[in-house]
Amino acid sequence: MKVTVVCEHNASMDSEEGKTAYPEGLGVCIAELLKAKDKNVTLIRADEQGVHGLTDEILEKTDVMFWWGHWYHGAVDDALVDKIAYRVQRGMGIVFLHSAHDSKPFKRLLGTTCSLAWREVGEKERLWCVMPDHPIARGLGEYIDVEHEEMYGEPFDIPTPDELVYIGWFRGGEVFRGGCVFHRGRGKIFYFNPGHETYPTYKIDKVRTLLLQACDYVAPVSGVAEKLGCRHFEEFSIK
Ligand code: ZN
Repeated sequence: MKVTVVCEHNASMDSEEGKTAYPEGLGVCIAELLKAKDKNVTLIRADEQGVHGLTDEILEKTDVMFWWGHWYHGAVDDALVDKIAYRVQRGMGIVFLHSAHDSKPFKRLLGTTCSLAWREVGEKERLWCVMPDHPIARGLGEYIDVEHEEMYGEPFDIPTPDELVYIGWFRGGEVFRGGCVFHRGRGKIFYFNPGHETYPTYKIDKVRTLLLQACDYVAPVSGVAEKLGCRHFEEFSIK
């Protein structure tokens, strides 16, 4: 399986907290996790200049994409967003992490503002599984605890998820639809809220298992279609 991890680099990752959480880099952490499970991973950097090196060739071979972005969503080229969205509609899986709720591809695919409430005080989140038999939640028990996380709260302006797998509860009292699956065309999308860059959330065993299971779940079942449309179009069109 070919997986492309697009991860932004921002100054917050260079802070003491950011470096303590991910000395190797958050994107490297996710890429290494997937590589260890036999995924063929390409790590792509995004920053204030946009997304670097995500060529058509790489995109057209990608089965599953992971997207982490925060500060520089606006720098992502609209033509690239179009291509990513179309590939999802043709069957590519995509996992949006944490602040990628505000990314262009996520908003394009969902069609809403995807806005939410937030507070950054490093409070505890408990993610309750509300679909215990879902493949993404396999073997992970009733809940996953993240001791320190940025609070994301409702209302989360998304379409009603096709599969709501986790609801997060925060120490401060808020709840959030933190683990959601959406189907768009032939593709599957998974959104997962934990993963602020200054907390080592992606080092938690259960979170790591969840990310791997999410990758497998959104992967195309029978490949990515070359194009969408009626295959009889030529035959029936009026000359
Ligand atoms: Zn954050």
